[in-house]
Amino acid sequence: MQIIRLHALSDNYIFVLYDKTQNVAAVIDPAQADPVLQQIDRLSAKLVAIFNTHHHYDHIGANLQLIEKFPGVKVYGGAEDRGRIPGQQVFLQSGDRVQFADRMGEVIFVPGHTRAHIAYYFPPEKTGEVGELFCGDTLFAGGCGRLFEGTPQQMVDSLQKLATLPDSTRIWCAHEYTLKNLQFALTVDRENTELQKRYIEVQAVRQRGEATIPSVLGIEKCTNPFLRYSQPTVQLATKSQDAVQTFARLRGMRDKF
Ligand SMILES: [Zn+2]
Repeated sequence: MQIIRLHALSDNYIFVLYDKTQNVAAVIDPAQADPVLQQIDRLSAKLVAIFNTHHHYDHIGANLQLIEKFPGVKVYGGAEDRGRIPGQQVFLQSGDRVQFADRMGEVIFVPGHTRAHIAYYFPPEKTGEVGELFCGDTLFAGGCGRLFEGTPQQMVDSLQKLATLPDSTRIWCAHEYTLKNLQFALTVDRENTELQKRYIEVQAVRQRGEATIPSVLGIEKCTNPFLRYSQPTVQLATKSQDAVQTFARLRGMRDKF
């Protein structure tokens, strides 16, 4: 399975999954139709699936146009998103499986950013492969999504589920927010040398105009404050000794950053 990263809107990423053997493609969170259609055209592939993580317009904006072009395409989303995702046909619950070509994906229910948000995890199947996580606006490189419909406790639980995946898992999140996230991270975790190193690397990547996505879970665990709410240094910065309260305060601080 090949993963192709496309840019959309100001800072969104759309991911196209491509299987060469069957010549089929799937798309994760199509914000806009044009980049997806151009990519599918370049591949001369058939679009067989749209995987939506949640109902926000910058994740489902192209659903109807893509269905029109590829009437056989299957549209997946969370069961709780019923009525909010255009063209949705498959209503997924935690633990459900989705198939794309020869890869099997697992559905992880991750409410917090929205009440219905899901993530898709494709575990490695052969040696040399790593797990691929498509987590929408839940876990970001260096940060996490805003809480629009969920509570801090829900988001902590959701991030905790993602943090149990193997450290080598690649994180395909839906926005390029990494530089700003790390600037914020340094204000609450400034002694963290891994974080300092990562910030310098990410600065260079962005200066070259390149993408910082995918990230890797093991790096997130060492540098992302929204996975480090149990660390004494981060708790000191939020003046709390409680994990969920620390998380909530971090999120509040980041909202104003
Ligand atoms: Zn969103």
